Amino acid sequence: MIIMERTDKSSFGILGGTFDPIHYGHLIAAEYARCEFNLTRVIFMPAARPPHKQLEYVLAEEHRYKMVELAIKNNPAFEVSSLEMDREGYSYTVDTIEYFLKNCPEQEIYFIMGADSLLFMDTWKEYERLATLCKFVVVTRPGYILDKSDKRLQHLPSGLWNNIRGLQIPGLDISSSDIRKRAAEGRPIKYLLPPGVEEYIDYHYLYREEGTGYDK
Ligand code: ATP
Ligand code: MG
Repeated sequence: MIIMERTDKSSFGILGGTFDPIHYGHLIAAEYARCEFNLTRVIFMPAARPPHKQLEYVLAEEHRYKMVELAIKNNPAFEVSSLEMDREGYSYTVDTIEYFLKNCPEQEIYFIMGADSLLFMDTWKEYERLATLCKFVVVTRPGYILDKSDKRLQHLPSGLWNNIRGLQIPGLDISSSDIRKRAAEGRPIKYLLPPGVEEYIDYHYLYREEGTGYDK
């Protein structure tokens, strides 16, 4: 009997972000990517100190990590990793992808990101090399369109487009910055993020006053 060898690799997703805090926009992006590309799991990867957010306050790592944990607990295909937080210094996507290429060589990687992030990809460390290392699921985000002919995308390496998979997801005009602002102003954040995360923010009085819960 001839047994057909399976050559198609299984795939998993990575959703990088600051998650300050995690919200339904992140969750729907991860879940749609998981279903569309048959991903065995999606790893949420909270960044330590994102290089492009050096000048802003970012909530302490423990809080951001815990909120991701709370948000994903009902989805067995979702995981959170502390890889970037455990690494010294800034978080770079290229280092993270290389870690998984080395440690999970049997699996294909789909890096998930919003259409807004693609606009800044040329500021990422070694983005030309990164573009060749994995697939990129670029999900729609209200206010941003994924248009290959967009002038702002012309400087991205042409090879990147072979690895990009555009994905239309239900538009949720939710951002962490807006949630932080609303919380600081004492306005409701209910229905923008999972109830467990909302309770966590309330309990720890996060985002309410300058400095609360932030790294010193
Ligand atoms: P901030 O306002 O602080 O930048 P954010 O809401 O953009 O926060 P990030 O942690 O920066 O959240 O985003 C992580 C990833 O999730 C990015 O690739 C971003 O494009 C994507 N993303 C965030 N919110 C949405 C959304 N509402 N719809 C689609 N993608 C999103
Ligand atoms: Mg953002």
